[in-house]
Amino acid sequence: MIVMKEAATDEEIDAVIEKVQSAGALAHPIKGARLTVIGAIGDVEQDANIETLGLEGQPGVDRVMPILKPYKLASAQIRHGERTVLDIQGRKIGGGHFALIAGPCTVESREQLLETADIVKDAGAAMLRGGAYKPRTSPYAFQGLGQEGLRLLAEAKERTGLPIVTELMDARDLEPVLEVADVIQVGARNMQNFPLLAEIGRSGRPVLLKRGLSATLDELLMAAEYVLKEGNREVMLCERGIKTFEGSYRTTLDLQAVPVLKELSHLPVVVDPSHAAGRRSLVTPMSLAAAAAGADGIIVEVHPNPDEAVCDGPQALLADDFAEYAAAVESVAALAGKALSAV
Ligand code: PEP
Ligand code: MN
Repeated sequence: MIVMKEAATDEEIDAVIEKVQSAGALAHPIKGARLTVIGAIGDVEQDANIETLGLEGQPGVDRVMPILKPYKLASAQIRHGERTVLDIQGRKIGGGHFALIAGPCTVESREQLLETADIVKDAGAAMLRGGAYKPRTSPYAFQGLGQEGLRLLAEAKERTGLPIVTELMDARDLEPVLEVADVIQVGARNMQNFPLLAEIGRSGRPVLLKRGLSATLDELLMAAEYVLKEGNREVMLCERGIKTFEGSYRTTLDLQAVPVLKELSHLPVVVDPSHAAGRRSLVTPMSLAAAAAGADGIIVEVHPNPDEAVCDGPQALLADDFAEYAAAVESVAALAGKALSAV
């Protein structure tokens, strides 16, 4: 990590980048509010090379220091404690901005999606979620509407103006997903699908990266690093419940992950209480707890008629209750120093 002086000029920054690249390493310049830091990423031998480049004495360079964590671009260190704030079509997330992402588990029909989209928009949601490709435990369960689902999401976006969050499971579907997704969701089961992560990294599209059901926070951050390494800076981390010995609920929502991820990383942290809980009655209390813990956003499932939902009905909030829910979440986010990011 090469820390430039506050007064460093663009030419001095470019000269350092060139020198790093000439050593065969990747240079990732990160412009902060005060100063620029250049991450020089290579394998161990290349790192040794960087040390011999004499960058420490170069004009504009303040100091060169190693990043001690195994993840580099995801680390809090590389941004000197500054938070990353993402701007998704005008909806901010991170820092002082809180985003509520809401919608059905999966796109089922035009009516179901558009009705839900209108309701969550009116209640102040920042983005609309909905899966067209669904990772299901059973290969016999509904797998999503695929391209037809993407088409309906595009219609919902056109109608409401809400940015779309939708999952990509297979890199072969990247092109059609890119046509509608403002944020690509990587599901818990794909958190360590490294070729998929790299492909999404190269696409440059913002990413919501869900924590695997048995993944440590270091593993989650290493997965984020796969996206960041490709030059895509727009990554949100998502805690969605992990497997523990407790059997009274679907998974255990690890809310300690929120402040700990913020100590370790500059990336925004989102919480998904729906998949963690598995049932509706837990979703509101855990959403409020997530907001109080400092989450930068919540992604939550909502359905106009959960009894008839094709998947995850028992955990979906009733669309009729959503406005009240959103107001409660907003008030707790405000206590944690965050303003709701809406249209
Ligand atoms: C989802 O968001 O609908 C989903 C399947 O989530 P996860 O990957 O966290 O299980
Ligand atoms: Mn779901």
